[in-house]
Amino acid sequence: MAVVVTTDEERERLAEQLVTLPVYELVDVLRRVLPHYTEDSYGIRTELVLAEATDYEDEPGLELELVAWPDRDYYDGGLGLYQGLWENGHCAKCDIQVTSNAKRAFCPFCGSRCSLT
Ligand SMILES: [Zn+2]
Repeated sequence: MAVVVTTDEERERLAEQLVTLPVYELVDVLRRVLPHYTEDSYGIRTELVLAEATDYEDEPGLELELVAWPDRDYYDGGLGLYQGLWENGHCAKCDIQVTSNAKRAFCPFCGSRCSLT
């Protein structure tokens, strides 16, 4: 049985705080949280990531893009562009599409620098 360390009410309060954030600030919070859930054993690495799923009406299936973490050094400690996840790119190492609010960001899986447009 799982050990519950917070109450429903505590988690609800946390969610209420998070939902008030613009997406680029939510992403910055999750950048600090999700990597703690990485599992790495027997040559298999599993990373908890944030992804954006898009359904294009005239195409089958969903398009999935990993949300890349803005390169805060490049933006002098800032979060990049204060906009939605409107930049798109590709992580060459993981061969996967990425999206971000920033044009310079890191792949959430491998940490490679990605250029987005
Ligand atoms: Zn990658």
